[in-house]
Amino acid sequence: MGGTFDPIHYGHLLAAEESMRRLSLDRIVFVPTGAPPHKINREVASSEDRYAMTLLATAGVKEFSVSRVEIDRAGRSHTVDTLTEFLKTPGRSLFFITGLDAMLGIASWRDYARLPALCTLVTATRPGYPLSGIDGLPPEIREGLKVVEIPQFAISSTEIRERVRDGRGIRFLVPHLVEQYIESRGLYKGGMGQA
Ligand code: ATP
Ligand code: MG
Repeated sequence: MGGTFDPIHYGHLLAAEESMRRLSLDRIVFVPTGAPPHKINREVASSEDRYAMTLLATAGVKEFSVSRVEIDRAGRSHTVDTLTEFLKTPGRSLFFITGLDAMLGIASWRDYARLPALCTLVTATRPGYPLSGIDGLPPEIREGLKVVEIPQFAISSTEIRERVRDGRGIRFLVPHLVEQYIESRGLYKGGMGQA
């Protein structure tokens, strides 16, 4: 499961958990993006902070791990490159999990038409994005797409950053250790997503 994770929140964790259960996956690898191509114009918390928060959020969940592959790669990250990297380890079959909002934008991703050959695409439902949007996806994407309906959790990293900036609480929206990390590092205080 890729994402900016700026910060990681319970919507991400729920989408991962439900996808894992419903599709009988062995494990989930969270892949925080290095320089997100879609978010290049907006300040995000540093890669290391986002990586640290993702580690804290998944600590103690034995099926969950965090990969540095995109963080350590120079330049922009593209899903097609990351999947190709993961496939270098033999014997793996990959599922790439997104929320519905992200899946609906897939036609703008680099070499998106190659993705179904590399992995099974999975999309979790997300409030505000009707399932009917799937009908508009390119046929080669729609064909093998697995849709996982999850309990609808109308939270986003954007809203969490705004809440921190405005001094509103984020308890129960992110894991406790993530909340503590944000507070101790003073993240998101200065404006939209800025550390
Ligand atoms: P931002 O507001 O900064 O875009 P975000 O909450 O959308 O943050 P991302 O890091 O952009 O989080 O998302 C990573 C992945 O998690 C995406 O595929 C996204 O669709 C999915 N996702 C995020 N929040 C939810 C949620 N509440 N329910 C289902 N999927 C989600
Ligand atoms: Mg997003």
